[in-house]
Amino acid sequence: MGKLIIISAPSGTGKSTIISRIIDDERLKLAFSVSATTRSPRDGEVNGVNYYFMTVDEFEQRVKNDEFAEYQQVYEGRYYGTLKCEIERIMDSGRNVVLDIDVLGGINVKKIYGDRALALYILPPSMQALRERLEHRGTDSSEEIEKRVAKAEFELGYVDAYDKRVVNDVLDVAVEQVRDIVTDFVLPCE
Ligand code: ADP
Ligand code: 5GP
Repeated sequence: MGKLIIISAPSGTGKSTIISRIIDDERLKLAFSVSATTRSPRDGEVNGVNYYFMTVDEFEQRVKNDEFAEYQQVYEGRYYGTLKCEIERIMDSGRNVVLDIDVLGGINVKKIYGDRALALYILPPSMQALRERLEHRGTDSSEEIEKRVAKAEFELGYVDAYDKRVVNDVLDVAVEQVRDIVTDFVLPCE
């Protein structure tokens, strides 16, 4: 039976970067859970690969149809959610599901799946580093960056609700720590 690896962190901490470095490790049999969102695609983002991009109307209709395992309005007017069919699709393919989701969504998925899920929290080394990473990434307006930094203070209050924590200071070190934690979880006998 497939397992779930929930990876949460304040936006800009580096969770997408870390996930991209471990997702193709064939021993771990991972697959990325593509979320639905109502935000616009960033340059280079592809529908069905990074997200299922949809209108607010479509998203709300799917909420009514009970199609989401969890969803959150992560930022005002901006919905993000995990479709039940996405988790089922990955489980049916015999792989373990990696979810890059916000802190509250992660706690909800952990509640649903219990011991089948590992909840991993990635921390930035400091708020200053977080801001610099968001600025350096260059994908969000300064207004959007302010929203994300403000939200980070709130999100850091939930770190103790997670099973494991890793600080993403030096990227290579964080990647190896995450790889070790995920390996222990999905391949406990190795
Ligand atoms: P998230 O998915 O958590 O929003 P990203 O993976 O997009 O964050 O990373 C945000 C930015 O920080 C990217 O430009 C990424 O290259 C950079 N980054 C990630 N990890 C580190 C690190 N350890 N040190 C410096 N920059 C980093
Ligand atoms: P971004 O806009 O930077 O891609 O994502 C913003 C935030 O939404 C991140 O914290 C990301 O983890 C979160 N997120 C992405 N997909 C989901 C999802 O399906 N559910 C929830 N609850 N949060 C999500």
